[in-house]
Amino acid sequence: MTWDSRTVSGIEVVPLCDAVGPMGATLRRPLEETFPGSGPLWGRLRREFPEVFGPDGEWILRFHCFVLRVPHGPTILVDTGLGPEDSPAASWAPVPGALPTAMADAGLAPEDVDVVVLTHLHSDHAGGAVVKGEPVFPNARHLVQRAELDWLEKGGGAVLDDIVRPLAPLLDAITGESRLAPGLTVVPTPGHTPGHQSVVLGDMELVVAGDVVLHPVQLADPSVTYVYDDDAGTAASTRAALLDRLRDRGGVLAAPHLPTPFMPVPEEWTSGDTNLGGV
Ligand SMILES: [Zn+2]
Ligand SMILES: [Zn+2]
Repeated sequence: MTWDSRTVSGIEVVPLCDAVGPMGATLRRPLEETFPGSGPLWGRLRREFPEVFGPDGEWILRFHCFVLRVPHGPTILVDTGLGPEDSPAASWAPVPGALPTAMADAGLAPEDVDVVVLTHLHSDHAGGAVVKGEPVFPNARHLVQRAELDWLEKGGGAVLDDIVRPLAPLLDAITGESRLAPGLTVVPTPGHTPGHQSVVLGDMELVVAGDVVLHPVQLADPSVTYVYDDDAGTAASTRAALLDRLRDRGGVLAAPHLPTPFMPVPEEWTSGDTNLGGV
């Protein structure tokens, strides 16, 4: 499915669908376990967001990437999707990702990308940056937080060996906020991973937020955590603060795994609301 782009502060934001599918068996758990603290919310969620439930009630994820076109400025890709058949994401996600086709359909060649922002170094966000040992976006600086690299170095694994090492000549490790263009800033949003970062447009008019929010259940109640968060408490406070600021400003949330690439931030659900969920 393709979605319309949006223009915010003069910057065009183009959503690109990399994949849609269920969480693979290696990581799949019951939803209440995947999202601790979510117990009473599922009835209403099933009614309001039927598209995130599969036939057996399992979580159906979208995997969106975003291209930001700055007039007379850089072309920026936020996240690179799942990657090819043999990507590190293959163990749990629907590979290969379709980002290369989606980019071509949007009139973009890999060589056109000047900057890649990796929100974090999970395989479904960094997996498309390297194919067969070669960087896919050869003209792009790849921005990642230093804290994220340090964390990955400690843990090791396929993303480090197969993605980060081959990217080394193109990687820029940054610390804290970084301005990419007027009205366009990368900001740390830690918790899901230690060096998770998001891209803020204008005065919080739109935020490309990576995995700060993974599922509509976390819009209903931002204190609901995710079992694979590195630091669930920090992730929850980052999420609550980001959603509060977006809601205050009437801003738009752009998050890869939500059912639509652009979502307004609703009021949080009260316990009275959740009773409407029934069974
Ligand atoms: Zn993640
Ligand atoms: Zn993710």
